[in-house]
Amino acid sequence: MDCVFCKIIKGDIPCQKIYEDDKVLAFLDITPVGKGHTLVVPKKHSLDLTEAHDEDLAAAISACRKITKACITGLKAEGVNMHVNTKPVAGQAVMHTHFHIIPRWKDDGLKHWPRANIPDGEMKKVQEALKNSL
Ligand code: 5GP
Ligand code: ZN
Repeated sequence: MDCVFCKIIKGDIPCQKIYEDDKVLAFLDITPVGKGHTLVVPKKHSLDLTEAHDEDLAAAISACRKITKACITGLKAEGVNMHVNTKPVAGQAVMHTHFHIIPRWKDDGLKHWPRANIPDGEMKKVQEALKNSL
């Protein structure tokens, strides 16, 4: 399969490994948004978060927590963002489920998304649409 993360998991492409267990590999992002930006990747291929298996996600979240703590203790990060892009329109470039761990420091220049103003009536419709789709 022509998947860059599967190739990294197989060892065909090198990476700067941070953590590995039987279900998960974590390594430094090749184009980091900042120092310590790490990708946490379930070893079993799935296209994105909607298709990954619960047990692989549970293992990935557990690894995310370990790496978050390592960012704080090892890099003296003052906070950490965990981020998932799902589908290309949301910024997903590699179609193999993964989590971004991004260490944060005061005044690191990274910005959060702007907030939208959704009218009350629309919020109610959105709530119903989501609840009814679960
Ligand atoms: P996405 O945009 O799909 O959520 O994130 C994919 C991430 O994978 C990007 O931040 C990109 O820099 C990273 N990436 C893509 N190819 C490679 C690679 O070959 N090695 C490493 N370490 N990271 C990669
Ligand atoms: Zn893959």
